[in-house]
Amino acid sequence: MNTCYEEKFGIPRQPGLCPSAWGRLVFAEKYRSAEALRGLEGFSHVWILFAFHQTQDQGWSPTVRPPRLGGNERVGVFASRSTFRPNGLGLSLCRVEGINFEDPEGPILLLGGVDILDGTPVYDVKPYLSYAEAPTAATSGYANEAPQAKAIEIAPTAEAFFQALPQRSQSIIRESLSFDPRPASHQSVDRIYGVKMCGCEVKFQVDEVVRIIGIS
Ligand code: SAH
Repeated sequence: MNTCYEEKFGIPRQPGLCPSAWGRLVFAEKYRSAEALRGLEGFSHVWILFAFHQTQDQGWSPTVRPPRLGGNERVGVFASRSTFRPNGLGLSLCRVEGINFEDPEGPILLLGGVDILDGTPVYDVKPYLSYAEAPTAATSGYANEAPQAKAIEIAPTAEAFFQALPQRSQSIIRESLSFDPRPASHQSVDRIYGVKMCGCEVKFQVDEVVRIIGIS
């Protein structure tokens, strides 16, 4: 599928965190059929089952260090959403924004809230069933709280370019960087980080806020 995220760094760590993040699922020719999507328009969300293709050949590890535990505490891979898993399968609940039946490569499934890299191979799409899949008394162990978003500042050096971007790209950049994508283990307030998304290269620094200092 195609998404707004051209590299792994900067992608939100779960779907839905950045509602503006878009994905465009083009079906392989064999499955390119309006029939195969009949009835899907009534569903607000779908499960996307995909390959962590960029990290798959790095194998797996029985324990991993989730960023939300600061990157120095280990939990079991099956108690995590880590990409380093035995079969390299990813699972994301995404918003259905529409289906484009008119595109020559259509039907194309238009998705929102994705946490998926551009070019990711997708194995399957399944509709989300709210009556069965939204338990009210759920607990989420060490990940019970949603991650905290930081405020975003656009430095004067980046302002003009940023404002000229399409509104959706501006939202994607703001939402994605607000979750501080820096690796938990080596964070630095002086360092300038660069990330590619929405066809741009965004340079930023993080202290109490995330400051976008350059964009091209
Ligand atoms: N919701 C999914 C993904 C959680 S991990 C699941 O639980 O299975 C989210 C991270 O996966 C993102 O931050 C991004 O860095 C990484 N990612 C997304 N697509 C990827 C891909 N094709 N290959 C490797 N890593 C990917």
